[in-house]
Amino acid sequence: MLSLDAAWSLIEQTVTPGPMACVPVSEALGLVLAESIVSGEDSPPFDKSMMDGFAVRAADVAADSLTIVGELTAGQVPRRQVHAGEAIRIMTGAPIPTGADAIVPIESTVVSGDQLTIAADLPVAIGDHIVRQGTSMRVGEPLLTPGTCLTPRQVGLLAELGHHEVRVRPRPRVAILTTGNELVPIDQPPGPGQIRNSNEPMLCAQITACGGTPMPLGIARDTPDDLARGIAQGLTADFLCLSGGVSAGKLDLVPQLLREAGVKEVFHKVRLKPGKPVWFGQSTGERPCCIFGLPGNPVSSMVCCELFVGPALARWQDGAAITKPWITARLVAEFTSTSDRPVFFPARLTQAEGAMLVQPVNWQGSFDLRATIDANALACFSAAGTFAAGTLVHVVPLRGTNLFSVTGQK
Ligand code: AMP
Ligand code: MG
Repeated sequence: MLSLDAAWSLIEQTVTPGPMACVPVSEALGLVLAESIVSGEDSPPFDKSMMDGFAVRAADVAADSLTIVGELTAGQVPRRQVHAGEAIRIMTGAPIPTGADAIVPIESTVVSGDQLTIAADLPVAIGDHIVRQGTSMRVGEPLLTPGTCLTPRQVGLLAELGHHEVRVRPRPRVAILTTGNELVPIDQPPGPGQIRNSNEPMLCAQITACGGTPMPLGIARDTPDDLARGIAQGLTADFLCLSGGVSAGKLDLVPQLLREAGVKEVFHKVRLKPGKPVWFGQSTGERPCCIFGLPGNPVSSMVCCELFVGPALARWQDGAAITKPWITARLVAEFTSTSDRPVFFPARLTQAEGAMLVQPVNWQGSFDLRATIDANALACFSAAGTFAAGTLVHVVPLRGTNLFSVTGQK
């Protein structure tokens, strides 16, 4: 059976970067930049005051008092020079008037009519509280490279430079088709033998957390007609994630119907637990769609979405090699894994005194989604055996979890 590494490598070979588009910078958070950004301006664009106070000539400060000859607020343009013996009242952000070479903060002054007295013991040097044009960045300076994932700071920087639109790789559209005769929509009461379609909202949430746009297609029954219809609809998206129907049961028809829809199988089954039956392929055609068949058990679906769909969406967006999604942490207590396959066990990641610690939760198996609400990560145990407290293990932080909000609880 395929190893996890081999599966990632096949995903990397199959998924190619999506098309580019221009979006308003205010909608670019989390998107991947598809252009180089070079500064077109100096920043700040003019010498400006960093304090509310007075623009003076540093050499004059020893004088008994200076005459206040004007006022400058942010957004105004200086109309007058500062001559010897003069000061101009100035606010933070206002341009420095010609002649002035230092700002004296208001806290260090006494004003009486138009006379300004500066605290005698205040050392005032040329350039005090003035930020010079271009201190932060200069015209022509390279700032951002293609492939950068845009954070709020980069959004701010682009806006500072006047990039109200930016060239990015947009979010991939990810169709989600849940399969199963036993499923009912979550707003309907399940009848005998039925369960709610909880995977659809969960996978939609995971896709959103992975930077994709989920397109839920509802439930397909385990019949060739229903599945073929749902698959045809899903193949118009950039990715299609199916839940259920990929195992060895009599009604696990998904691999066969994907083949009949012209989808090329890349792999089926990976050596891992939960999630062994996972299926991956690609449609042929002008705009290829990558298809994941996720096992229907909720934790299997969740784990396979984290381990395979997330990295595939990232590759579609940034074109970069798939990196292993884990960090290392020390086991808080001894743990025994009974599986000969690598196990991704729901766990809690915390930190104490600078060390990352991990503790598997009390999880019963791939059906047991409830246990995972106490988890914020998956701890990987590569083989059967007993792992002593303190052992370093691989840990995959779960997307959409605020690690800081759970750190230290329990
Ligand atoms: P399957 O992979 O189709 O064999 O399903 C495996 C198990 O997951 C079965 O117990 C299903 O009832 C359950 N299951 C399948 N699809 C869903 C779903 N969309 N939401 C919740 N449970 C599901
Ligand atoms: Mg099924």
